Amino acid sequence: MKILLLGAGFGGLELASALSEEFGDQVEVTLIDRSAGFVFGFSKLDVMFGRTTAEAVVHPYADVVKPGVRFVQTTIRSIDPTARSVITDDGTFEADIMVVALGAEVDPSATPGLVEGGHEFYSNAGAFALREVLDSFPGGHVMIGVTSTPFKCPPAPSETALLVHDLLERRGLLEQSRISLVMPLGAPIPPSPDASAALLTAFAERGIEWHPGTLITSLDPQRNVAITADGSELPYDLFLAVPKHQVPAVVAESGMCVDGWIPVDPHTLETNFPGVYAVGDVTSVGTPKAGVFSEGQAVVVADRIIASIRGRQASMTYDGAAACYLEFGEDEVARVDIVFAPGEPPHGSLAGPASSLVADKFAFGADRIRRWFGRDWRQF
Ligand SMILES: Cc1cc2nc3c(=O)[nH]c(=O)nc-3n(C[C@H](O)[C@H](O)[C@H](O)COP(=O)(O)OP(=O)(O)OC[C@H]3O[C@@H](n4cnc5c(N)ncnc54)[C@H](O)[C@@H]3O)c2cc1C
Repeated sequence: MKILLLGAGFGGLELASALSEEFGDQVEVTLIDRSAGFVFGFSKLDVMFGRTTAEAVVHPYADVVKPGVRFVQTTIRSIDPTARSVITDDGTFEADIMVVALGAEVDPSATPGLVEGGHEFYSNAGAFALREVLDSFPGGHVMIGVTSTPFKCPPAPSETALLVHDLLERRGLLEQSRISLVMPLGAPIPPSPDASAALLTAFAERGIEWHPGTLITSLDPQRNVAITADGSELPYDLFLAVPKHQVPAVVAESGMCVDGWIPVDPHTLETNFPGVYAVGDVTSVGTPKAGVFSEGQAVVVADRIIASIRGRQASMTYDGAAACYLEFGEDEVARVDIVFAPGEPPHGSLAGPASSLVADKFAFGADRIRRWFGRDWRQF
């Protein structure tokens, strides 16, 4: 039995671990990713705000040593979902079962003026480069703006606004600065009214200006103004962008997408192609684009693959439940438990913000690095 896992993010890493745990070297699992290492989404903010270094947050795939699993670092150039095969820079790979976990990419060039006039913090390169920009920022109006939906980790722009506030305070620049958060959503985290209320309180306490229901469509780099969907102009000194998201080109060209994303059965994560599953940000499954959802979907797919190989009935279906940690600034973290059950309105609960939850967030990261990479991780 050959299994191909495309993409070694939250989804691919969890699947490789679960399948190795179950089958050892009885099953041939090939895990493919073009990158040399994995980076948690939240680590981007840690590097950007100077809490740690880029080197400390990259987890080399060379450390994925698991019975039955072979990691191949190469770029996938085409996917044939009917034949369950891919062509890569390292040759062709075929499988009995294939899982597409290739995530979502960002395209700053899709927003006119953004590349010239702003900075994005959603790619590793963009977030890591911002560290120096933020360290040398002389003060002024910092605008965090969303240019397109859907986007990964809906709380991340709010977290960024709060962490910018911390940074400006630490650097003694608050007096001569302003922070604005511009988002097309009506609330910071619409499915969690409690978390949204806590964030709005934190914004009000810090004087962070909140612009709900507002989408940035372009920047005018000559005049340092952001232009919104209704044509209004918002002046800024430093623009931190959530850029447009899309599936990687190789997925778009595979014939698997409908309206830009891979449709899946929300209970089983099966695609329209027999023996092909898709998990995480690359899908239109109906959960937010976040690693914790991708991981939860991978758990279900692993169960279904295991059941099919063992010749038994699969026991799990996807329940849409996950827990997210939110940076609140001032060394506090909150935890949002949220459920996106297919066909039901999402619901969730909030714990914190509290300094005691900082350790829980550390444990979340460290547990996964131990499970996926077999080693300890001291984050700071
Ligand atoms: C600032 C920020 C903060 C975030 N904070 C959180 C958080 O606190 N909690 C949370 O759960 N999520 C968070 N996220 C979101 C999270 O990072 C993603 O949603 C998550 O990584 C998605 O997992 P995935 O498995 O679907 O895909 P990914 O983790 O994106 O993995 C996809 C993999 O596919 C590979 N790939 C793509 N194309 C190719 C190709 N052609 N050939 C070979 N390999 C390819 C990529 O290199 C990548 O490793 C955050 C994101 C950002 C930007």
